[in-house]
Amino acid sequence: MSKQYTFEAQTERLLELLTHSIYSNKDIFLRELISNASDAIDKARIRSLTDTEYLEDDTNFEIRITSDEENHIITIEDNGIGMTRDEVVANIGTIAKSGTKDFLEKLEKTKDENSLIGQFGVGFYSVFMVAEKVELETKSFDSKTSVIWISEGKGTFELSDGKRKKRGTKITIFLKKDESEYAKNYKLRELIKKHSNYIGVPIMLPEYQDPKEKKEEKFSQVNETKAIWNKQKSEITDEEYKNFYQSVSMDFTDPLAHIHTKTEGNVSYTALLYIPMAKNMFLGSADSQTEYGPKLFVQNVMILEKAALLLPVWLRFVSWVVQTSDIPLNISREMLQGNPNTEKIKKSLTKKIIDTLKKELINNRENYENFLGNFGNILKEGIYYEIDLKEEIAGTITFYSLLENKKITLDEYLKKAQEEKKDDKNIKKIYFITAKSLAEAKANPYIDQFQKKNIDVLLLVDPIDEWLTGSLTSYWGNPLISITGKDVELEVSEEEKKQQEEKAKEYKDLFELIKNTIGSDTLEAVQPSTRLGDHVWALATKDGQLSIQMEKMMRAMGQEVPPQKRTLELNPDHKIVALMFEEFQSDLKSEKLKNLIWYVYEQALLLEWWELSDYRAFVERMNQFIVSK
Ligand code: ADP
Ligand code: MG
Repeated sequence: MSKQYTFEAQTERLLELLTHSIYSNKDIFLRELISNASDAIDKARIRSLTDTEYLEDDTNFEIRITSDEENHIITIEDNGIGMTRDEVVANIGTIAKSGTKDFLEKLEKTKDENSLIGQFGVGFYSVFMVAEKVELETKSFDSKTSVIWISEGKGTFELSDGKRKKRGTKITIFLKKDESEYAKNYKLRELIKKHSNYIGVPIMLPEYQDPKEKKEEKFSQVNETKAIWNKQKSEITDEEYKNFYQSVSMDFTDPLAHIHTKTEGNVSYTALLYIPMAKNMFLGSADSQTEYGPKLFVQNVMILEKAALLLPVWLRFVSWVVQTSDIPLNISREMLQGNPNTEKIKKSLTKKIIDTLKKELINNRENYENFLGNFGNILKEGIYYEIDLKEEIAGTITFYSLLENKKITLDEYLKKAQEEKKDDKNIKKIYFITAKSLAEAKANPYIDQFQKKNIDVLLLVDPIDEWLTGSLTSYWGNPLISITGKDVELEVSEEEKKQQEEKAKEYKDLFELIKNTIGSDTLEAVQPSTRLGDHVWALATKDGQLSIQMEKMMRAMGQEVPPQKRTLELNPDHKIVALMFEEFQSDLKSEKLKNLIWYVYEQALLLEWWELSDYRAFVERMNQFIVSK
């Protein structure tokens, strides 16, 4: 008895797209189906570890592919986990897969669907790029009968009971007339070699024979027998490393780097890890709750699909495989957590990854910057999490340099500082400013003096940088100093110091008035400053206070922020200040003086990209100045 179902709307959209795709690389359907078969076999393997009955007499895992050139039919069969009826409905009838969901979301934003299909794996449905009908029969260990799913990829599918006795799934593809090429034995062989060579499960194909001779089919393995990570490095070309990555990750851009290592020591393991360069939807999600981690093989058996305990969360964009014999095969996930060897492997891998990043930073700068653009945010989390490694990690990150107009590392900053000022102090200060954008950072009044004195400032414009500078207060002994901090001293000559003190004395009463006009619950103090260049004044942050940038961010997120009293620094050499002083001496109660004080204070706020509390009052004050002239 069969029953008809309709696809949910999303699935239908995807199918619509795939069946009408002019996408030239239809080849990928085979890779997708083989990858599903291989996943199903991995799951069966894992289950058989704890359930001794499970395998019955079907213990030889393999994927079997046949084709009928005359009738344009391909079949792909696996003895993996199979599916129950409910599972078929859940997995094949809907878009449960988050990757496909992301794909559809991306699709909303782009017109170029073909390049998207090429970049991301679209899964099972890709078969409808070449098929006019697909029949899938599957049997799970957990169900007595098998189930048959049939669809033409046009809005509906049919389910009925089947007769399959063996665990696993068989997919029969009835090719569209003009796609019959795919039923050719040599074509299948070529595609398997190209896209699925290192899948880790034998892919069996009949040996070629003339279709006219009707002999019994003899199957042989097409793909590599040996897992790529178990080969010697010298046996593997760069091209093969890349192809393997693309075939398993569904990320079809080049990775930044790979790490292939056989480590012997207090714990022995083999690992093949990839650091991606492009952002794709499967890796390095911004969300730290996503599942991540390499596959874990123990004695050639995959026991965990995503072994997050082998990598720190700030390296969650790194993937592929770790194999070891130093962990017991039948260990549970909970036991794994407490196993000292997993901790050792994690430490060792983390170190190797940091070393690789450093190497890429030096030798492959352009790609490395691309990588940082996509994953730098995640990497920076490490500075927050790792007390012992924070400086190592900070050394792999680049920041925008005010003087260089490009991104530089902290080491490059220090090196330049050393060259420029050959004084005896070994400890250099690393000056920075945090802001929402480069424009905002460059507009800050404090920056002018640094520019004039040719002292570099790092412009930190990533939201996470605010937290970064909270965790990283020094870099190998060199303090990181915010240029908006209250006590940042640039070298000031004795002469300047004396002048400043005199001005402070002279302006003391004016400053007091300013403080009281704005409000002593807003301002901590008003004082003269020589570090403002051509600006009138600026707001400084005391040590231990929330920075202005942080305060802004917290408010934007709707958090309660305790009042942060700033210090208003004022440039005594500025004309406007002189004007204020004149006014103050003639009539300290004048409306004009009050307006002047407010007007300039609000300017300081605006230069911090800060919201004013009353824009209308600000505009009216400005207009008044113009009219009264
Ligand atoms: P993905 O493989 O990324 O999950 P697919 O669209 O390729 O997405 O497959 C959807 C789901 O269908 C799989 O997650 C799996 O649960 C199920 N599935 C597909 N092929 C098989 C198979 N050969 N054996 C068992 N389950 C399968
Ligand atoms: Mg798949």
